[in-house]
Amino acid sequence: MPLDVIYVDHHSTTPCDPRVVEAMLPYFTDFFGNPASITHAHGRKASTAVEDARIAIARFLGVLPPEIYFTAGATESNNIALNLLREGDHLITSATEHKSILVPAERLAKRGVAVTILEPDSEGFITADALRAALRPETRLVSIEAANGEIGTIQPIGALAAVCRERRVLFHTDATQAAGKIPLDLSLVDLASFSAHKVYGPKGIGALFVRRGTRVEPVVIGGGQERGVRAGTLNVPAIVGFAAALQLRASEMHDEAVRLVALREELRDGIVANIDGVSINGPRELRLPGNLNVSFDRVEADSLILAMKRFSLSSGSACSAGDRGPSRVLKAIGLSDEAAMGSIRFGFGKSNTSDHVALLVSDLGRAVRKLREITAA
Ligand code: PMP
Repeated sequence: MPLDVIYVDHHSTTPCDPRVVEAMLPYFTDFFGNPASITHAHGRKASTAVEDARIAIARFLGVLPPEIYFTAGATESNNIALNLLREGDHLITSATEHKSILVPAERLAKRGVAVTILEPDSEGFITADALRAALRPETRLVSIEAANGEIGTIQPIGALAAVCRERRVLFHTDATQAAGKIPLDLSLVDLASFSAHKVYGPKGIGALFVRRGTRVEPVVIGGGQERGVRAGTLNVPAIVGFAAALQLRASEMHDEAVRLVALREELRDGIVANIDGVSINGPRELRLPGNLNVSFDRVEADSLILAMKRFSLSSGSACSAGDRGPSRVLKAIGLSDEAAMGSIRFGFGKSNTSDHVALLVSDLGRAVRKLREITAA
């Protein structure tokens, strides 16, 4: 039985589509072979499934199949991408990146890599001019996310990658929140990270795109699987599920985006019309379809989320949920600690409807008024 709570946190993760589960199931039981065991039929069956998945994913992304390496998720893909840096190199990234970029960047800084963290503008954008100004002769890699999972900002990846190409600098994008939700042009991108569980696929599987001719250094070493880029027996059912999920996105992404933008705008208008003392964070345009981020004055997001019992909501990135402080993404776009601590990130997905928006607006209004009464008393 599904939980009797409405899920509005699709940037954190998404439910596996039943059609994806269906595609995966035979690979747990009948076709359980190790794809590296190609001396026998069981191994070859698994290997064929993996290679078919690689082809499907490459086609979805508009790249070549050998340019796709399977990983345990976007965290690992990001780690591998940054691991190509060596002492004396310069890395440019941004303050709104996921921790799986920023934490490895911190470690690289301790190991003699120069690191520049670009500050975004007030809507979360990194401009080509800002990037150009930060480039140095020793810049080896630039890593800028394709879209932000807290405030929805869609970065001008094409323009940023073009600056890098012109200067012969490698360009990596963490496309975890963008792939399968908005069109993505990787034609000037050298490396890109993906995760299946953000697009109705299984958790614990992802991919790293590495343009032909670019060398990366593995993080997990051992048996030499994935042509040495990521050792370990391949998670065949998850790989099959990842490909199935992206194939479904290819046919459903566009219509869903239109529907989610409408829900997002409905929620935005409903909140602004019914609740005073609110502000919307992030851009109006060039924003992930299902994303809205709102600051509620004189309210703590944690208390508001607790009061919103009919909904699964969050104040920001699940991977930063352990940090009790204000969101660093909201701080980076200029919010005060107080405003950042009073913000909720809404993430609509396939299961959400206009009825959910109406309920959200009325429950939010009631909860915000009550919490403000308590603090004023
Ligand atoms: N990058 C971004 C932008 C993300 O949103 C996430 C997931 N929260 C990750 C990387 C990590 O992905 P995974 O869960 O597959 O390790």
